[in-house]
Amino acid sequence: MNNCIFCKIIAKELAVDLVYESESVVAFKDIHPLAPVHILIIPKKHIATINDLTGNDFELVGKMMMAAKQIATDLAIAEKGYRLLFRVGEWGGQEVLHIHLHLIGGARMHEEIYPVSI
Ligand code: AMP
Ligand code: ZN
Repeated sequence: MNNCIFCKIIAKELAVDLVYESESVVAFKDIHPLAPVHILIIPKKHIATINDLTGNDFELVGKMMMAAKQIATDLAIAEKGYRLLFRVGEWGGQEVLHIHLHLIGGARMHEEIYPVSI
């Protein structure tokens, strides 16, 4: 959509380190990783924030979550554990207005790594 950086990634106009692709979901390495594993899982459909979800997106959000589980398993971090994060809107610190699920792991997480400090 328009100037959305993640839509450009989906359209292959911007190169990323792709780790997963299905008919409705794409996942790639975060360009500024917070941990040894930091993947962004996004829907191919442009949805600005979690607040913009409709009932029709129910299955799509489930697919994003299932992709997270699949990627964690493929990257061999599933058993040790990891974190999943959606930032929402201004106060949530969301910078890219195309919903994305952060998959963060590969090391034991301390609270200072988890980006929730206020
Ligand atoms: P958020 O603050 O939740 O909106 O997260 C946006 C994330 O997108 C940040 O962690 C950025 O590092 C990441 N990001 C922005 N542009 C790119 C890009 N071109 N490729 C990969 N990750 C990106
Ligand atoms: Zn978009």
